[in-house]
Amino acid sequence: MKKFNFNAGPSVLPREVIEQTAQAVLDLNGIGLSLLEISHRSKEFQAVMDEAVALFKELLDIPEGYSVLFLGGGASTQFCMVPYNFLEKKAAYLNTGTWANKAMKEAKNFGEVVEVASSKDKIYSYIPKDYVIPTDADYFHITTNNTIYGTEIRKDLDCPVPLIADMSSDIFSRPVDVSKYTCIYGGAQKNLAPSGVTFVIVKNDALGKVSRTIPTMLDYRTHADNGSMFNTPPVLPIYSAMCTLRWIKEQGGVKEMQRRAVERAELLYGEIDRNPLFRGTAAVEDRSYMNIDFVMADEYKELEADFMAYAVSKGMVGIKGHRSIGGFRASCYNALSLEAVQELVNCMREFEKNH
Ligand SMILES: *Cc1c(COP(=O)(O)O)cnc(C)c1O
Repeated sequence: MKKFNFNAGPSVLPREVIEQTAQAVLDLNGIGLSLLEISHRSKEFQAVMDEAVALFKELLDIPEGYSVLFLGGGASTQFCMVPYNFLEKKAAYLNTGTWANKAMKEAKNFGEVVEVASSKDKIYSYIPKDYVIPTDADYFHITTNNTIYGTEIRKDLDCPVPLIADMSSDIFSRPVDVSKYTCIYGGAQKNLAPSGVTFVIVKNDALGKVSRTIPTMLDYRTHADNGSMFNTPPVLPIYSAMCTLRWIKEQGGVKEMQRRAVERAELLYGEIDRNPLFRGTAAVEDRSYMNIDFVMADEYKELEADFMAYAVSKGMVGIKGHRSIGGFRASCYNALSLEAVQELVNCMREFEKNH
């Protein structure tokens, strides 16, 4: 049976990216060796790194003066690297969910953390709007897409202090005005590559300003000065990332990714709003295009397990909601076809007819 992959992460990748990665594992570019058994300093791998960085800059239209890094450690290591490198006295954070909380917890080890606003009062179902960012903060940290709660900030904010964003789950889903950010980071396993690589876009002249000593591996300058080759980088996911970036370019770039994201999201939210058996959990104006959360309407609560079983029987994979809100979550990343969303919508309609 055909499977429709709505996993939240690791998640769906373009089929050709998986095939090209598999081929490179068997024999990279016909050199008679696997990607897995050559030096990261070989000319073959250097070409991969260079192309991945160049495509990253091209597709996001990254201005001069920024470095693109590929590191290990996941987005979770960035929760501590960001304050290590940027927090001198005080940092401001927007609390929009689980990942924002984890980022704040790490920052507290380095200085004062001001939570400028939180949507915890309503289980993070909305993005706080009216808040004041202290102008003496070293930076303001946001999570642009809240993978668990299904809310998203799609506007590049004007910010009185350096802006830093966790874009783990919405990078490359829309054009971004990188010039508004000092640092953007994320784990690659949501929209870009298999797990194991973390991307960081960092403004070079913002580095080296804090007074503390930074351990070599946690200092962005180490990686910026060495083209992400200070130590052995995660070569396989970087290769896949390069393939995904080529794919995005061929498909028409981030504008086209955005058009598709809107198309998928409108189809699914449209059905959630129309179908009396279901309701969305996120505030309508803050709904994520990437992670679409919904539950059974209150009067149909007891049908949750039945709908899940029905959807699974039709090939839906990974639609179980995160344990903190229950219900369902359909992650609709770049590589998810419109057909997959249409099939899920068909399931919801069929299920409605049968009940
Ligand atoms: C998945 C996720 C993380 C954690 O990423 P790891 O690479 O597993 O550390 C952090 N932030 C957001 C928004 C995520 O979706």
